[in-house]
Amino acid sequence: MLSVFDAAEVSAAVVDAGARGVLARGAGRSYGDAAQNGGGLVLDLMGRTSFDVADDGSVTAYAGVVLGDLIPGLVAKGRFLPVTPGTRYITVGGAIAADVHGKNHHRDGAFGDHVRWIELITADGTLHRLARDGSFDEQRIFYSTVGGMGLTGVIVRACFDTIPAPTSAVRVDTERFNDLDSLMAAMVAGDDRYRYSVAWVDGTAKGAKLGRGVLTRGDHAQVAEVYGQPLKAIPTGNAPKLASPPIPMSPLNRLSIGMFNEAYFRRAPKHRVGEIQGLAAFFYPLDVLAGWNHVYGPGGFLQYQFAVPDSGADVVRSSLERLGSIGAPSFLSVLKRFGPGRTRSPLSFPIQGWTLAIDVPTRVNGLAGVLDGLDELVLAAGGRLYLAKDSRMSPHTLESGYKQLDEFRAVRSDLDPRGVFTSDLARRLQI
Ligand SMILES: Cc1cc2nc3c(=O)[nH]c(=O)nc-3n(C[C@H](O)[C@H](O)[C@H](O)COP(=O)(O)OP(=O)(O)OC[C@H]3O[C@@H](n4cnc5c(N)ncnc54)[C@H](O)[C@@H]3O)c2cc1C
Repeated sequence: MLSVFDAAEVSAAVVDAGARGVLARGAGRSYGDAAQNGGGLVLDLMGRTSFDVADDGSVTAYAGVVLGDLIPGLVAKGRFLPVTPGTRYITVGGAIAADVHGKNHHRDGAFGDHVRWIELITADGTLHRLARDGSFDEQRIFYSTVGGMGLTGVIVRACFDTIPAPTSAVRVDTERFNDLDSLMAAMVAGDDRYRYSVAWVDGTAKGAKLGRGVLTRGDHAQVAEVYGQPLKAIPTGNAPKLASPPIPMSPLNRLSIGMFNEAYFRRAPKHRVGEIQGLAAFFYPLDVLAGWNHVYGPGGFLQYQFAVPDSGADVVRSSLERLGSIGAPSFLSVLKRFGPGRTRSPLSFPIQGWTLAIDVPTRVNGLAGVLDGLDELVLAAGGRLYLAKDSRMSPHTLESGYKQLDEFRAVRSDLDPRGVFTSDLARRLQI
């Protein structure tokens, strides 16, 4: 991996890239091979950490800036990130390249919806300033870079809008549901009343309890609501060190995950309204658990995340049933609603409807077959899998899920006819 500081260094590295090509990497928080380029060059942009928050709340930042490092400055100005994933340890470049979504997609769209312009270094080493409302050619590259997984070039700087946040707290309503149907019905009926919505689904419950879950919804709290309440300041800076050696000698197994889920479900309030939570507790519960990614033991885990339109809602149930049938235990299964997707970004993941993300240990007999079968169900429902989480889908699954893949390929071959920008993911999926 080569650490690069400014546009001139990026440009020189791109022009000199060898036969296995080059790829920009952010904080490496993608679950699969999106930020890897085996045998080739990988550029680390995290050395340059400067950014500016303008009076109108817009942020101009170098690509390697970590989202979490922006939060204190934004909060001080009564603003917050327009979209944030479940960890704050990702970079601006990674947020744009994967067009990440948060708990507010149904309301605010994905990260790319808030980007005003990007500076991109393309395969010939040239720096382009691309505005979302620029010329036809600019827009073509802009929209393909949003969600383009680093395959159109290296983003070196970007400007994006933020949203108002009067305090550093969130007013949260929590509700517990004993089965999947009632949980999903509540989300359909009520998500529009909240800026943020997310459901934890019990990935081990079966029978009548299948898909039971805890729904958490909220909005930024107003000053009067938090007055006098002690709130933990959001910690920033580097990610906690991953526990090494990996978390204890007894990694989670089917039994312990079942017990954890049971306890988590029972501990959740049946219905609690108006609880005031700090930003970190609400948005980033996993960030405080150093080494959480080792809990499944040495075999590791993968995350399976799909999106389906509302008409494919049944796939949520089928996926829980099928994974349950092989005893694949999950302590982290997350269900969210997506609002309208942005069809102008050919590889952007969200489509209006549902998205379910399930962590599963890789050492489960029959897992590969079940996931292949689920791929077919997702595709038949008009859905797709998320590239930032994927480590196993086939080129066919990609092509069938992303109908505008050829559009993306056309932009890429205009910009980069020799395929200088590449990744293990791009090779595996024949993008
Ligand atoms: C605990 C956890 C929770 C998560 N929750 C969510 C969630 O709720 N929603 C969601 O959408 N995602 C989620 N993710 C996934 C994560 O947000 C994305 O994978 C994101 O892209 C990671 O950013 P990164 O900076 O680590 O980029 P990396 O993982 O390093 O790279 C991701 C992709 O971006 C490209 N890239 C990075 N920097 C640049 C650049 N400067 N120029 C061009 N391309 C670049 C890389 O080539 C690669 O293809 C989660 C991940 C974790 C670990």
